[in-house]
Formats: sequence, C-alpha cells, structure tokens
Amino acid sequence: MLVSDNLSVNSQGHLTIGGADTIELAAQYGTPLYVMDEELIRKTCRRFKDSIDKYYGGNGLPHYASKAFSCMEMCRVIADEGLGLDAVSIGELYTAKKAGFPMEKVGFHGNNKTNEELEFAVECGVGQIIVDNISEMKRLEAIAAAKNVRPTIMLRIKPGIDAHTHDFVKTGQIDSKFGFALETGEALEAVKEAISCENLDLDGLHCHIGSQIFDIAPFEEAAKVMLGFIAQIKNELGYEIKGLNLGGGFGIKYLEKDDPSPFETYMERVSAVVKSQCESLGIAVPYIHIEPGRSIAAPAGMTLYTVGARKEIPNIRTYVSVDGGMADSPRYILYGSEYEAVVANKADQERSERVTIAGKCCESGDLIGENMPLQHAESGDIIAVLATGAYNYSMSSNYNRLQKPAVVFVKNGESRIVVKRETLDDIIRNDI
Ligand SMILES: *Cc1c(COP(=O)(O)O)cnc(C)c1O
Repeated sequence: MLVSDNLSVNSQGHLTIGGADTIELAAQYGTPLYVMDEELIRKTCRRFKDSIDKYYGGNGLPHYASKAFSCMEMCRVIADEGLGLDAVSIGELYTAKKAGFPMEKVGFHGNNKTNEELEFAVECGVGQIIVDNISEMKRLEAIAAAKNVRPTIMLRIKPGIDAHTHDFVKTGQIDSKFGFALETGEALEAVKEAISCENLDLDGLHCHIGSQIFDIAPFEEAAKVMLGFIAQIKNELGYEIKGLNLGGGFGIKYLEKDDPSPFETYMERVSAVVKSQCESLGIAVPYIHIEPGRSIAAPAGMTLYTVGARKEIPNIRTYVSVDGGMADSPRYILYGSEYEAVVANKADQERSERVTIAGKCCESGDLIGENMPLQHAESGDIIAVLATGAYNYSMSSNYNRLQKPAVVFVKNGESRIVVKRETLDDIIRNDI
C-alpha cells in the first residue's frame, strides 16, 4: 500500500515520510497539511539529469514543469539540483525570479500569453519562449524590437500522437488548443514566419503529448515525427533547428497496481531513437529538453487530514469525512483520479474496509476517492493520502472560503514550513 520507497511504518505503527512521523507532523502543523519529502524531490531530479548524461552524453537538460507544484522553496531546490524550469504564467515566472532562479534556464509556455507576460519574460531574460501561435509570435516580435533584444524561441508543435491517457490531459493531437499542427502545413508556415522575424532567434521545436503516460512508444513516436520535421525544415528551408524539447508527461505510481516504466528506460529508448533518426535523416543531433512535472513532485508528497464524521449507510457505503477536500485535492472531482490512503496512526494494521473518503465542501462530488481500501477510521484519526505532491497545492482553491493548507518540507527526519497556512485574514485580504 505504500507506493513510494520513502514511506515506512515506525514502531508506534505510525506512517513516516522521509524519516518523519506523520502523526507528529499533524500535531505540530495542524491539518489539512501538505507534506513533501525534499530528499525524494532531489533524488528524482538527479535521476533525470543522470539519465540524460548516461544515454544522451549530457547534451540536454531536464526542466521541472513548475505548474505541478510551485513555491519559492521548490524553485530553490530545483535550482540547487541544476535543473531548468518551465513556467506557464507571469505568476510562475515571478515566483522563480523572486526565488533567485537562474532565468536563463527557464522556458516560458502557454497557449495564450498576454503582452504583459511576454514583456515580463523578455525582461527576465528567460532562456526560451515557446511560441504557441502566430498572434503571439507577432506580438513578441514587436516587443523584442521595441526593447532592441532578440529572444530565443521554440515553436510548440502538435505532432499528432495519441498518448493513450485521459482526454483532459492529452495535448499532442490535432484537436488541441496548444501549438501548430504538422498535418495541415500550419507548422511549416509558422517556421517560415519565425525565420523572417528579425528580432526572434528560432532555436528549437517543442512538443508535449500529454500527462500520466505509462508507455514509452508514444514518446518514441513523437520524437520520430519531430525529427522528421526538423529534416524537412533543413531540406526545404535550409534552416538548422538546434534544440528539441520533448515535453513531460511521465506517468507515476498512484495506485499499488500502477506500473509505469522507469524514466531511465524512457531516456535510453528515446535517446537511441533520436540518434538513429538523426543519422538516417542526415541532420545534426539536437540538444534535448524534457519537462517532468508530476514525476518530480507527486511521489514526494502526501496530504494529511483529520477524520471527523463517519457515516455508515447500510448496504450502500461508508463515508469517512475529512477536514479538507476538493479545495485542496481537486483531482478527483476533475478527472476521477485515484489515490491510495492510509490511516496514518494505524499504518501497521490491515486495510480491512472499503470506504468513500469525503471532503467538507458543499458538493456531493467533493470526494477524495470511492471504494478505497482503508483501516477502520474513526473520528480524530489522521488519514494520509499518498502521492499528492503534484497538481494538488498548485490547483487548490479557496472554495467555501476554506484556507489553503500549509506546505511542509521534510528532509532526513527534520521538517520546516515552506508555505504558511492561510489565515482567516488572508481569506478577506482583497475584499473591499
Ligand atoms: C504540464 C506540462 C508538462 C508537465 O507534465 P507532467 O505530466 O506533469 O510531467 C510539461 N510540459 C508542458 C508544456 C506542460 O504543459
């Protein structure tokens, strides 16, 4: 039931994360609480970097997709590990900049960047702006000309790959709001347009086919399609594309039964495909970016809740209600995403029941999950929901005017607050 190696059960029967007792964390910081294991974040960063070194001669860099989980301390940890970073809004850029992140290692994404965002990105000197559409390209060209600079851009391409994942998190197909389509010739026209922009330096192409993908084949397929396009650009336009960003989307283990391919296998196979394609197409081997988000943040995190009410509805189901819900954990109501949960103070016992864990928001759909195996949970128990480090805090809201929980980092058994719990005054801070 413990989906990650950094979790364990101590002699008191309490669940531990990164050597820290979750029951002590709940007592010290209150619940709901997000807990992240800094050592695991760092370890995963190193695995990504090391595999690019090992299989691709170090000719590339992983960029952490900060939308998965962003706060200043996370940016500092990512910087310290030497990774780049992706941002998709001025808020994520601002967080990185304020944290002292080296902005030349930042890629700026988004399908509808505003002029304010583009100007800010240019002023920060981000490494690449990943241009999504022609309107943006023209606006960026004008901004760059006015500032007399020449930002480096990549173009977001839809390679037309079906990634076999949830419809809401598929992004590589022609019917997507992201990027330029290959099949229609739109992408080649965009390349021509970019080359003709004097104040833009077209350096690379980008694709991202989706999220929580377990198979390596769609990634290999996407790499092939993109390299074919790089060869076409060279042959038809005489222009050399130097960089290839293959996006993120690496699946993680949410449930015991999940069995994603290890990233090392991905990198080994995709590197082999890239090198052999480049040779047969007669093009230079590009530098590579990859953009893991979920795979760095999710396994390192968990959410702790206190159990309140328990409702047994005979022959129907048992509801165990917790002191959070869709405001801090929106992925169930959004995508029906499933998690493993453990009664953290009874972690040495069997998960002998099947229950619905419900949130406290005024929506029937506000559930953490249904039919979840769990120890017998009673009022006052602490429930840990596992692998919640990505797309939980970053998607959290103040629905029902709930205060956003604190985020605590754990490192070798020691804990510290990295995001404070919101106060009641925070809730009314912008009210007039
Ligand atoms: C969301 C996103 C990622 C990260 O995806 P994960 O599934 O979290 O790895 C990477 N690149 C782009 C462009 C994205 O939109």
